[in-house]
Amino acid sequence: MSDAKLIQQALQNVHLNLTLLNTLDERLARLGRRREAASKKVDQAKAQLDQVLAEKNALTLAAREKENQMAAAEAAINRRKEQLSSAKTNKEFQSLKEQIALDQEKNNQLADETLEAIAAAEEFEEQVAAAKDEVAKAEKTAATFRASCDEEAKVIEEDTARVRVDLKEAVENLPGDFRALYDRAIEDHGRGGLVPVIDRGFCGHCRREIPPQFVVNLRKGEPYLCQSCGYLLFIPEDYYKQ
Ligand SMILES: [Zn+2]
Repeated sequence: MSDAKLIQQALQNVHLNLTLLNTLDERLARLGRRREAASKKVDQAKAQLDQVLAEKNALTLAAREKENQMAAAEAAINRRKEQLSSAKTNKEFQSLKEQIALDQEKNNQLADETLEAIAAAEEFEEQVAAAKDEVAKAEKTAATFRASCDEEAKVIEEDTARVRVDLKEAVENLPGDFRALYDRAIEDHGRGGLVPVIDRGFCGHCRREIPPQFVVNLRKGEPYLCQSCGYLLFIPEDYYKQ
């Protein structure tokens, strides 16, 4: 194999490892996003539970308030009943009796309301239980998910470490002048700084046409930076197959 072709092969190898690293990074980022989404579901379920608990507390307080009102009304009736025995006139007696009857009626209504309030608070217990179930379910799902994410992340990290070693080796195999240009292209443009020639004569990054003479030079093993975007170009393996 000619030196020129070996150089292109070395560049292709570097490019392959750079692409692999990008893919691995994307997978790791995607895992992170999915993990976050699972945690968010737990937070949402907890917020829902808090809301339901607050409503239940409000209903319980309302029921207690009604009970207190009823007790106070009951005490008032009892006081009036005591006053009955010490009524001095018939008129006073009648008036007290009427008042007691009126209070009694109010108290009956209050009793109904109290029972309703207690029932409402009790019925709400079901919603509290359902919200608690949702939290437990979301937490379980998130925990299972986290475990599988951790496992997958571990594999990705191991792969990444391996690819980094391969990349380092591939870069070390680049001839000196290519090495310097490569370092600069990566520094300026990140991992995408090395791109293949596509469609037999166009920059794989910006798609600008490469002057044919430079394609020839590239094939001879001379380095070339795209004059439009500054990315370092190489001739990919399949170029020769066409
Ligand atoms: Zn370009």
